[in-house]
Amino acid sequence: MNTKKDRLSHRLSDVRCESCDEEFDIRRYELGYNFCLSCGDVLARSVVRTVVPLHKSNYVLVTNRDDLKGINSKYQPT
Ligand SMILES: [Zn+2]
Repeated sequence: MNTKKDRLSHRLSDVRCESCDEEFDIRRYELGYNFCLSCGDVLARSVVRTVVPLHKSNYVLVTNRDDLKGINSKYQPT
């Protein structure tokens, strides 16, 4: 009996969606996604983009709140 093939296929999906905690394809994770296919779809449609004019620089498209805080030098984490 050889079970090697079975174990290999199981290892493909031990990545979990940050939103619904469902397992999804690790190949998707390797592409930079933290969400399963269905959650990723919803997020892609509801993503909020903010354009930040940077001093002495170009306008920057920010989709992440943490990035926005990093850009704002007056932001003081308390
Ligand atoms: Zn999900």
